[in-house]
Amino acid sequence: MYYGFDVGGTKIEFGAFNEKLERVATERVPTPGDDYDKLVDTLVGIIQKADKEFSCEGHIGIGIPGMEDAEDGSLLTSNIPAAKGHTLRKDLEEKLGRSVSIDNDANCFALSEAWDEELQGEKSVLGLILGTGFGGGLVFDGHVFSGKNHVAGELGHTRMPIDAWFHLGENAPLFECGCENKGCIDNYLSGRGFEQLYTHYYGEKVKAIELIKRHAAGDEKAVEHVDRFMEMLAICLANLFTGLDPHVVVLGGGLSNFELLYTELPKRLPKHLLSVARVPKIVKAKYGDAGGVRGAAFLNIK
Ligand SMILES: [Zn+2]
Repeated sequence: MYYGFDVGGTKIEFGAFNEKLERVATERVPTPGDDYDKLVDTLVGIIQKADKEFSCEGHIGIGIPGMEDAEDGSLLTSNIPAAKGHTLRKDLEEKLGRSVSIDNDANCFALSEAWDEELQGEKSVLGLILGTGFGGGLVFDGHVFSGKNHVAGELGHTRMPIDAWFHLGENAPLFECGCENKGCIDNYLSGRGFEQLYTHYYGEKVKAIELIKRHAAGDEKAVEHVDRFMEMLAICLANLFTGLDPHVVVLGGGLSNFELLYTELPKRLPKHLLSVARVPKIVKAKYGDAGGVRGAAFLNIK
């Protein structure tokens, strides 16, 4: 059995998966505010209950919005006060007497999609989330590549490529990022970026979903905005693809529901890639909110 936990700021979701990778159990509980012992006890309680139910010791994977410090294993996460700075993996392993895997939730998202029936044979899958922020995860041969410092996939904190900057023109906005740098693509390619770019150019605050509606209705500003955005996105993604050369790209997050992406990107990408490179297959994520739990469980597939 494979157990997966998606630990978020407000709730913990648990899923158990059998050897066929079918989900056979689900549980949701609130995340303890800032009580670490309670967090550990909650996780241990769910694991022991599942062990009993399935008469086994399941493999344990945990996805968190953050990462483990590469040296001491303490959790770097601002969204879960109860876990921040604690060595959750080590403490759980001591209590349970078996190994535990922890990885970033965007990596879990990518892993979940990579283990979808249709993508299982792909050598590499790049999962990209166009949600409140922009981030991703890289899966090679069915396994997450998280790098030396566990920051592989933190693509949102690479900076705007120079050609994307020129594309935005003289009046390009230099957005500050939560990571304290300026010009991180997180603030441009995300759903939030899509909205704040519109505000910058047209002086009006409009939700992404409304902009997409206006675009469909042929509104002049929305059409111009989407055209500018799509080209910028194509430039930024081409830059990432040149570095990573993924076989398949899976888009998730709210903005991934904008169907135009799947026709516009393949058209716009080639001129920004090396001439020898072909555009990878770009598909929409299938698992939505369930991806975090699935991917966390699948961290332990050998
Ligand atoms: Zn940043």
